[in-house]
Amino acid sequence: MSAINLKTFEVWFITGSQDLYGDETLREVARHAQEVAAALDASPQIPVRIVFKPVLTTPEQIRDVVLAANAAPNCIGLAAWMHTFSPAKMWIAGLKLLQKPLLHLHTQFNREIPWSTIDMDFMNTNQSAHGGREFGFIGARMRIARKVVVGHWQDQDVITDVATWTRAAAARHDALTARIARIGDNMREVAVTEGDKVAAQICLGYSVNGYGLGDVVKHIDAASDADVDRLCDQYEEQYAMAPALRRGGQRRESLRDAARIEIGLRRFLEAKGFVGYTNTFENLYGMKQLPGIASQRLMADGYGFGAEGDWKAAAMLRAAKVMAVGLPGGTSFMEDYTYHLKNDNPQVLGSHMLEICPSIAAAQPSCEIHPLGIGGKEDPVRLVFDAPPGPAVNATVVDLGDRFRMVLSEVDVFAPEQPMEKLPVARAMWKPRPDLKTAAAAWIQAGGSHHPTFSQALTTEHWEDLAEMWGVEFVVIDGDTRLRDFKNILRWNDAGVFRRA
Ligand code: MN
Repeated sequence: MSAINLKTFEVWFITGSQDLYGDETLREVARHAQEVAAALDASPQIPVRIVFKPVLTTPEQIRDVVLAANAAPNCIGLAAWMHTFSPAKMWIAGLKLLQKPLLHLHTQFNREIPWSTIDMDFMNTNQSAHGGREFGFIGARMRIARKVVVGHWQDQDVITDVATWTRAAAARHDALTARIARIGDNMREVAVTEGDKVAAQICLGYSVNGYGLGDVVKHIDAASDADVDRLCDQYEEQYAMAPALRRGGQRRESLRDAARIEIGLRRFLEAKGFVGYTNTFENLYGMKQLPGIASQRLMADGYGFGAEGDWKAAAMLRAAKVMAVGLPGGTSFMEDYTYHLKNDNPQVLGSHMLEICPSIAAAQPSCEIHPLGIGGKEDPVRLVFDAPPGPAVNATVVDLGDRFRMVLSEVDVFAPEQPMEKLPVARAMWKPRPDLKTAAAAWIQAGGSHHPTFSQALTTEHWEDLAEMWGVEFVVIDGDTRLRDFKNILRWNDAGVFRRA
């Protein structure tokens, strides 16, 4: 898989106005819009292209630009600005056809009122304050999902809000053609990892299909000794190797088996153009080990991954990888594994049997081999590390039968109180906000899975914007959460607002 390049994506910057203002004013509107679009396009924070489109003054022009946006393969959304007053019945035909995400940038070209010179001409040219409200009404009237960003276009918080939305739009766009392989189906009897794949494809985009182990194993068996040696050399360069895994070490063959699995898995994914996959330790026929280091390194390269057949977790991780391109901090498949219930400092130890992405490693990972104790295969090779302290978010999507629900929990990662020298897996220790007691109860009430996508790169707003684009329910557990109110939100949302197609 080639690296994800967000600069191939375009957001079209459209400006609403009307003919009433006359040519001179409309030329000024166009100059302003060009300047705003160019500034956003040049912002290092915005990862996609922002492309100026001519000012729209008629229903026909609006409809035409929407149709062109729908058809443009690299256009991931529209950013609309009402510089002046754009009577919104003009927008109905276009908005009815719109199939891409919409951002309403509610800004104004001038930051401040020019106190000594302001006159009616100035007011008429700079009237986003009411033009934006007319546009807001038609969006609300037509139930169009959109993000509204308010403030001066040069302000950092406005640019951040726009940038966040473009990242979500990129993930949504990626998902429309994204394919995920469910290798070996599901861990037997597990519920949350199942769900309606047809509904998911309609709603989220990802196409999820099952593959037998033989489809992967043939690529593993075909890996040449020279390729395996080369990959083992790469491991030695990048990680602190356990002595037994080094050249001449007594477990060296296990490292070579692990490398062979990585090569085979990678070739299987590349051959069919997958951007994510799942596997399950209960179904590894033909593989010597459960893929550990392989899945860890594939995640680091941008693949979505879900253990135990969790294809929704694989989809979420892929979305996170697209949204997080170029941002500091990592993103990983995760599991709430065990608790530290010390009275004054309760925390969660997040980890998995093996598959944690090294993008969240605070320092150089160590490459180790230990028994798995489950699955009946040979000992798997894995990378071991801790996540660095700092804020993070855990997000998951579950299938409630009539709809998808995204649950998000804001957490703070801390260094472990004490080293865990005997724990042979990568891990993160966190305190959920507002506290473990409230957050875990809320997560459980919401039916959140035990496989969140953990990210120190993304914020709540990235997922909020994506949930809005997907049209899925979005519930947040953060520093303000009160369990009683949270349960009411779940009840209200059950009233039918989010029922899927
Ligand atoms: Mn698991």
